[in-house]
Amino acid sequence: MSSNNGPIKLGIVGVGKIVRDQHLPAVAKDGDYRLIAATSRHGKVDDIPNFPTIEAMLDSVPELEAVSLCMPPQYRYDAARTALIAKKHVFLEKPPGATVSEVEDLKRLAQANGVTLFASWHSRYAPAVEAARTFLSSAKISSAAIVWKEDVRRWHPNQDWIWAPGGFGVFDPGINALSIVTHILPAMFITSAVLDFPENRASPVAAHVNFRTSDGLPVTMELDWLQTGPQSWDILADTDKGKMVLSGGGTRLAVDGKVVHDEPEAEYPQLYRRFAEIVRAGVSDVDLAPLQHVADAFMLGKRNVVEAFFD
Ligand code: NAP
Repeated sequence: MSSNNGPIKLGIVGVGKIVRDQHLPAVAKDGDYRLIAATSRHGKVDDIPNFPTIEAMLDSVPELEAVSLCMPPQYRYDAARTALIAKKHVFLEKPPGATVSEVEDLKRLAQANGVTLFASWHSRYAPAVEAARTFLSSAKISSAAIVWKEDVRRWHPNQDWIWAPGGFGVFDPGINALSIVTHILPAMFITSAVLDFPENRASPVAAHVNFRTSDGLPVTMELDWLQTGPQSWDILADTDKGKMVLSGGGTRLAVDGKVVHDEPEAEYPQLYRRFAEIVRAGVSDVDLAPLQHVADAFMLGKRNVVEAFFD
């Protein structure tokens, strides 16, 4: 289905935290979209028709051109498949699925049905990420480190899906860091990892990961979900042009302590701009590199059992 004329008629599925915090405000301000329907079993978007299933929404609102799928990753594939076969463009929240191969299958389905699939990585649209990429592309990097430490009780209270298989645990925020480093650093792969699983949970609460590039550049990643007090979402690199610190989840760039880029974040408005652009260009944008690294960490990582976690 093409969307060359007028706003894209959009439906949103899975009305929870991220839809309320980011999707609804971003879409409301963007003249490229008209939100005309929503699907949620418990949530609701005011002033538009709401449906309990995506099938009911697609049947009742055939003029829909695109859907944003914002439920947890374990439950996204079937909805995406249904939408793509109905020839709707699909925006996938991050992470795009629970496995690499199911997202590969969605890519194939999008192509077969002549519609756009967007595997969105919101952190890649943080304001200082492009500046960091430009800085690193002209520097000789000797090492890099990711330090992503936050308080799960503050950011993900009572989200049981996040601790379930396919919920990724601490890699749910960690994949945001990976979406940035796979954009700004040379290609890399995991050489070793230790994942700390609370004894009562199926997903890790912390991870200690070592990567290297084919040239031998070492990159470390420390993920911790029990960080109280100041939170850290930092990417550091030692280079011949100074020590780079990309902090605040990609919002602030400093070199040798001097801030060179600091802007308020506008990730979701940018994501929706990108989605409209690829819908109109008739292409998909699906980069699986961040998801592949998480899969590799689970494949190669040593499992370490730690104290039980209770919300
Ligand atoms: P959430 O509020 O726990 O869940 C979103 C909605 O998904 C729920 O309200 C629920 O709506 C639906 N849902 C839950 N379980 C489902 C199931 N088994 N089948 C179908 N639908 C189900 O989660 P969230 O924080 O918005 O996160 C959703 C996605 O956005 C995740 O992939 C997350 O990584 C990503 N994300 C989250 C944040 C954040 O800050 N929270 C930031 C960026 C990206 P109904 O029960 O009404 O159907």
